[in-house]
Amino acid sequence: MVLTKTGSLEDHPLQLREVVNPWPRAGEIRIQVAACGVCHTELDEIEGRLEGRLPVIPGHQVIGRVDALGPRTTCFTVGQRVGVAWLYSSCGVCDFCLADQENLCEQFRGTGCHADGGYAEHMVAPEQSVYPIPESFSDVQAAPLLCAGVVGYRALRLTNLQDGQSLGFFGFGASAHIVLQAARHKFPKARLLVFTRAGQTEHQKLATNLGADWVGTTGETPPVPLDAAIDTTPAWTPIVEALRILRPGGRLVINAIRKESRDQNAWLRLDYATHLWREKEIKTVANVTRRDALEFLPLAAQAGIRPEVQEFALEQANEALSLVKRGATKGAAVLRIA
Ligand SMILES: [Zn+2]
Ligand SMILES: [Zn+2]
Repeated sequence: MVLTKTGSLEDHPLQLREVVNPWPRAGEIRIQVAACGVCHTELDEIEGRLEGRLPVIPGHQVIGRVDALGPRTTCFTVGQRVGVAWLYSSCGVCDFCLADQENLCEQFRGTGCHADGGYAEHMVAPEQSVYPIPESFSDVQAAPLLCAGVVGYRALRLTNLQDGQSLGFFGFGASAHIVLQAARHKFPKARLLVFTRAGQTEHQKLATNLGADWVGTTGETPPVPLDAAIDTTPAWTPIVEALRILRPGGRLVINAIRKESRDQNAWLRLDYATHLWREKEIKTVANVTRRDALEFLPLAAQAGIRPEVQEFALEQANEALSLVKRGATKGAAVLRIA
């Protein structure tokens, strides 16, 4: 499914095309794709809010099997099941890359945005951006672990949470429902609190079923103040509300590429004494590192994480994206390819 020019999703901008099968160059491997997750970021690529290459094959939550090895590859064998996430490549020599912060590299390239991704039968990737996938997951279940899961895990890592502390989730979609399960496994004594918009009863029900200690609406004051918070919403209000109920020294991690402008004046309510004073911190998440994927995937298997998924055929990519845009999927949307 190829994007040749950006445009509104209503016009079905992705087209099913026959393309030349890519061949792996030195250091690259080719993957026969079995499943590819659909991500909110792809809406930004397709509708032109995120600059990428054109034409491009989107898709950055790719599960498949190695089917060809380029020269000078050493990590994988043909037939092995693997995954590719948002990190496609970085320069490898700048200060950020040398400090395992390749997510901040000026030359960071995203899979399915700056290089062809997994909305296809085959794709090619540098082998250092390819990860083994634990056996306990089916292809379709494993796909959302690669973005919703891996980026979500980075957000969890950046909270600096300690066991026994309290963590608030603002928004409970594809990412947060996976991260809550990881947090429960890693920090068994932590108190996990979930805040949704009013009326998001499905999300609230899922949070309760997954073992949240408290579920409420953004703006409510929970029974305990938060040591840390993760905001995965496109809105501004949760930032102000999370800061209000953070403990002194607490940290808010914002896992969102963009914030929509509709409630931007929420900032006008920001009061230094209430929201920032006493060493409250704000940190954002940008991209992912190799370490995030290598740590998270085995953890997801150990923790028995089960992502909720809704399957689509490859040629239904436009429809799947439309449902993601409306927030109308049951769990994470995944294209089944082989
Ligand atoms: Zn993504
Ligand atoms: Zn670099």
